[in-house]
This record gives sequence, C-alpha cells and structure tokens, in this order.
Amino acid sequence: MASEENKKQDSALSVQQGVEQPSSVNPALSKGLRKFKKDQFEVMDYVDGILKGDRAILSRAITLVESARPQDQEIARQLINACLPHSGNSLRLGITGVPGAGKSTFIESFGLHLIDKGHKLAVLAIDPSSKRSKGSILGDKTRMEDLSVNPNAFIRPSASAGTLGGVARKTRETVILCEAAGFDLVLIETVGVGQSETTVAQIVDFFLLLQLAGGGDELQGIKRGIMEMADLIVINKADGDNIKKAELSKREYENALHLFPALENGWIPKVLTASAFHSIGLQPIWEHIEEFVRLTQANGHFDGKRQEQSIGILNDTISHALTEGFFYHPELKPLLASYEKQVLNKEISPYEAAQLLLKKYFESLK
Ligand code: GDP
Repeated sequence: MASEENKKQDSALSVQQGVEQPSSVNPALSKGLRKFKKDQFEVMDYVDGILKGDRAILSRAITLVESARPQDQEIARQLINACLPHSGNSLRLGITGVPGAGKSTFIESFGLHLIDKGHKLAVLAIDPSSKRSKGSILGDKTRMEDLSVNPNAFIRPSASAGTLGGVARKTRETVILCEAAGFDLVLIETVGVGQSETTVAQIVDFFLLLQLAGGGDELQGIKRGIMEMADLIVINKADGDNIKKAELSKREYENALHLFPALENGWIPKVLTASAFHSIGLQPIWEHIEEFVRLTQANGHFDGKRQEQSIGILNDTISHALTEGFFYHPELKPLLASYEKQVLNKEISPYEAAQLLLKKYFESLK
C-alpha cells in the first residue's frame, strides 16, 4: 500500500523537484554584488575593492563617477580622493582612427600582446556621438572578444551621455580608478571624427593614430589637425595585397610629417605599418612607445605634460562649476529668460544684460 508521501508524488498536482540549476550569476561576482545591495556599502569598501583589483567593484565605482545624481557624485568625489594617491602609475595611451580603420581589432591584438608581456590593460572610450546604438565604440559586445574575457584586461564602454567636456571629465576620473586598481596601461579609444581626439590628447601621454592606406586623400587636410597631435601613425591592414599600398602610404605620411614643426618634447613622430588582424608589427609599435617614454622622462617633458594636464583639469573644474552654478541658479533662471527677451527686443545690449546678470550672481554668493 502506498504511503501518504508516495500518493502525493503520484498526483498530477505534485511538484517535481527537478535538477538543481546552476546560478545564472557567477558566484564570485554575486558575492561582491550582494554586498552592493546594502546601503552601507561605503566609500572605504569601494576603495578596498579597487585597490585589490576587483573588477566588479571597479565597474560599480565607475558607474558612480558617471552618475548625475548628487549623492552618487559625492561618493564618487570621496572615492577619487582616496584613490588619487594610488594613481598616476600607468602609461596612458590614446588611440584614434576613423570607423573601419581597425581600432577594436588593433586594441584586441595589441592588448593581448602587451598582456603577454606582463601588463594589465584597461580600455576606455570617449565617444560623444554615441547613443549606445549601432556604431557606438566599445558598446558592441562582439568587439574584442578575447580581450574582454582576459583577467588582466578591463574594458569599459564609453559614458554615453553628456557633453564632450563632461565625458572627458568622467574619463579622467575613471583613469584614476583604473590606475588605483593596478592597471599599468590605460588605453583610451575615440573615433577620429570631430573634436573628441583633441580631448583625448589632453588626457593621455602618447597618442596613436590608426590609418588606412588610401589614395592619398587622407593627406588632404582632413586629418591634418589629428596628424599634428599624433606621436605615432600606424598604417593598419598591411597584409595580403595591401602591403605595397601600406608602404607607399607610410612614405607619404613620413613626408607630410616632415612639414610639421618639431615637437617641443624632442620626439619625432613616426610612421609604422601593421596588421592588427594578423598580429603583425605590434612589437615595433610597443618599442616606439617605450622609446617615447624613455626620451620624454629623461628630458622632463613626460611629467611636464602631466602637470599641464593637471592645471587644465583644475581650470576645467572651476569653469564647469561656475557655469553650472550660474545657469542652474534658481533665482537667475527666470531673470536670464527675461533678459533674453529684452535682448531680442533690443531693449538692452547682450553685453549689458550679461554684466547685470553676473553682478546679480556674484551678489547672491555673498
Ligand atoms: P573600428 O571601426 O576602427 O573599430 O574597426 P574594426 O576593428 O571594427 O575593423 C573594421 C574591419 O576591418 C573589420 O572587418 C576587421 O576585421 C577589419 N580589419 C581590422 N584590422 C585589419 C587588418 O589588420 N587587416 C585586415 N585585412 N583587416 C582588418
């Protein structure tokens, strides 16, 4: 005779236990994440995690840096202050190139090459045009497949929102966090269209321009501004039928670079060819970067540039705070709107309106 227990199991209404399913979250990660759920996850917990090189906590901290919420910004500020003494030890490399130049392929193969040499690499992106949609740099998960799963790499898609200035500020802070987490190479990628490369040049120590061999139209001025910023130009896709064209392009670029004035730091920008896809020519690129660092560290320009950048950050932060303080001032907002109308009606000149508004603003601070 079946027991009570067995009867229950025979019933169509009974629930079978089934096989226990593995957790959908990596248990090592979930341990860290569980901690985040608690409100009392404090600045020091973040700092400890970052200093231990915990990538989940680093990621979380960067999200705080990117957040627009005032309470997050306050934690982020404390976090940056705590990490600052542990930062500054990495080499910061900028990389730019038009879409299709092979940036992600290059970062993947060059990154793996450097990790093989014992480095730890963080990859960040500045992409003001990105709406996290198609074409967003680093946004696409299929990019840098091998690098993204490498324990010595950390890849962070670009902060999607905000002005270029805002994204730059956040990227600088992210660099500090990555350095504190032990990454000795920080690579910042940007698309070589628009102004973002100028911004990246203000953050990095060395700037690499990835180019394609072409019919010479790349020398027609469009890239002149970017070329002037480059410490190294790499003609990518120098493989197969393209090798000859790449060599020709290399010579054209070398000739073009001769026309630029000499750099103050004593470095003569170089042109190399490579194939990111076939991992050819990567070591010479690294050797040139090392040579640049040796030269500029010896003649003081390496530190000099960083000092200049620090002063730039100081000034940027002040102008940003002043602008925000003014334009978000609750009393000034309606006044500004009213002066705008008066300016449009030619009742007051824009200069005078600005003077009056600024006077009002500074008075409100007293
Ligand atoms: P990005 O838009 O600059 O990031 O360019 P991608 O890395 O996505 O590369 C664009 C296309 O060029 C892809 O189809 C790559 O496979 C290809 N590619 C990248 N590097 C090389 C290379 O060294 N040789 C060749 N033949 N193709 C490459």
